Amino acid sequence: MTGTKQTNPSVEPIIGIDLGTTNSLVAYCDERGPRILEGPGGQRLMPSVVRYNLSGGGVEAVGREARDHAVEHPKNTVSSAKRLMGRSVNDVQDDLAYLPYEVVEGGHDTARVKIGDQLISPQEVSAVILSELRVWAEAALGVTVRKTVVTVPAYFDDAQRQATRDAGRIAGLQVVRIVNEPTAAALAYNLGDNPGVGDQGSGIREKKSDGTVSLSTKLNPEVCSSENQPPATSHHPPTQTVAVFDLGGGTFDVSVLRLMKTEQGRVDQVLATAGDTHLGGDDVDRMIVELIQAEVRKQFGEQIAFPASTRQAFRNLAEATKIRLSAEDSAQIEVDLGADKSGGARIYQRTLSREDFNTMIGPWVDRTIDCCRDALRSAKCSVDDIDRVVMVGGSTRIPLVRDRVGGLFETEPYTALNPDEVVALGAAVQGSILAGINRDMLLLDVIPLSLGIETMGGAVSKLIMSNSTIPAQATEMFSTYADGQTNIKVHVLQGERELVSDCRSLGEFELKGIPPMPAGLPKVEVTFLVDANGVLSVQAVEKRSEKRASIQIVPNHGLTRDEVQRMENDSYAHAAQDMAAHRLIDLRNQARLDIRAIEKQLAKVGDEMDAGYRAQVEQHVAEVKAMADSSGVDPDKFHEALDAMDKSTVRLAELAITMTLREEQA
Ligand code: AMP
Repeated sequence: MTGTKQTNPSVEPIIGIDLGTTNSLVAYCDERGPRILEGPGGQRLMPSVVRYNLSGGGVEAVGREARDHAVEHPKNTVSSAKRLMGRSVNDVQDDLAYLPYEVVEGGHDTARVKIGDQLISPQEVSAVILSELRVWAEAALGVTVRKTVVTVPAYFDDAQRQATRDAGRIAGLQVVRIVNEPTAAALAYNLGDNPGVGDQGSGIREKKSDGTVSLSTKLNPEVCSSENQPPATSHHPPTQTVAVFDLGGGTFDVSVLRLMKTEQGRVDQVLATAGDTHLGGDDVDRMIVELIQAEVRKQFGEQIAFPASTRQAFRNLAEATKIRLSAEDSAQIEVDLGADKSGGARIYQRTLSREDFNTMIGPWVDRTIDCCRDALRSAKCSVDDIDRVVMVGGSTRIPLVRDRVGGLFETEPYTALNPDEVVALGAAVQGSILAGINRDMLLLDVIPLSLGIETMGGAVSKLIMSNSTIPAQATEMFSTYADGQTNIKVHVLQGERELVSDCRSLGEFELKGIPPMPAGLPKVEVTFLVDANGVLSVQAVEKRSEKRASIQIVPNHGLTRDEVQRMENDSYAHAAQDMAAHRLIDLRNQARLDIRAIEKQLAKVGDEMDAGYRAQVEQHVAEVKAMADSSGVDPDKFHEALDAMDKSTVRLAELAITMTLREEQA
């Protein structure tokens, strides 16, 4: 069990549960911020699956164990019970074809699961899942848990909400609040619950429509205000309109919410929702399976059959391919179909490029975008009215989905939190508000610790300094260190110390596909933007090739004010030592660059340089090399040696330049 016991014994904990169709999660929020509570073996997601005993109706298995053996027990394994909650058999006709177990009409027009001669209500199935999550929570927190917030889709009607409450009661949990899933997702990003903090007069607009993102705390401390954005009187507008785009494995919905901060507290209003209860990542898996099957038949004969086990293997392969294509430009597919009748090997192989994949899934993504337009229309909103877009559900990791959603709403969607966990985290935040827990950490209006990136040799280059007010933006130029370097890793760090090893890693990403150039030539512009909600976006662009990559992070989660204070004190205590270490790293980097340039020049001038002078330069180079490789070198001495080497090579540089000019004129 990995959960740390940090609950304040004086407050009764209120956990947050995302009771999902496919998976469920439990989270808790204290003054350190929300976190997922893990189950045995570090599980974060619990499959919403329960296996019952065929004869007696007792529970045999819950969660992963039930899901993993579902194929062997199709008649007594219950999944997707959420689709049946508070519904009659008539309501769920469309779903019945997808459910392998028997569903019959019970009393009061409610659907029941029939296992053997037992009738089980969907509420009872959900109660088993809630009970199991409660066990996870109690083990992680080390206290008894009696209260929970549970999330439901925004489109759930009263009967479905009541059924969810009843499921909690059956599980011995008081459901203190039912929260809409999109509202929970917004809460996890601290949206709609922001008090106006001080009058800094620094409004920042992330929308690209007028190109106005111009507040920079480091380089250009100007306040921005544009015509269509009056100067704000606080960082946090009292009303925000948020679109939540939730694309999972089997369901899709998009909601437009209005989040308001009033004297009485937070008020949220679901202006519209649209979606499709049978649209999701499973469709993409199916498209890839169909592609493989069609090509296999073309290659090895139309009559080839695919037994159930092969089809399942294809589905797994398809999902793995899809997931790879979220991170890579292409994925390799290989299927060994065994020998044919004459003993010849039958191996199917192909590469699926991201480009071809995007073409294939284009119409599927179009369907989600059409729903977004419908939702906007019903909410009587235009794209310009939407302040933020929040991404929820595993399928929002697909780059084309992110691009298209960002394109439609003209703003970069929020992706900093894990899309599978964001609803549970938001439910936990709601729980902490109801429990009256100090939410200090979430309300920080300044950046608590400096933010920067790793540079060569393990040093940290800070872009945004601690205590800058949010929103804040800073940009700096970096370059490559090795000749022909085509990838650059951008490692984002938080902390006051000078070395990577003493700071906290927030995440990293790679900027790929830079055309090969000599070291130092590529111009990589790194931009940090911390928006009004404390979400950090880091973007790297190589200016010559326009290659770009980015990441989003919620940087202040997981640190209390005390911890921030301690880290700050630490940085003062180690300041001198850290500065010396940073200086040594810079000197080493400089020495290596200079030596490389000198060696190139020495090779170029060859015999045109007299032997005495060559020996003198080589002596300097050897001295600096030895210092660069030594761990206990004095930075002042190192600096002197580097200076001496540079001075000694002035004549060499002149000679090399003269030769180059001569060659060019020849
Ligand atoms: P959810 O219902 O939110 O748990 O989402 C599950 C869906 O997300 C499944 O279809 C997964 O295959 C899909 N998924 C998870 N990770 C990725 C990824 N990295 N790229 C594309 N799809 C993913």
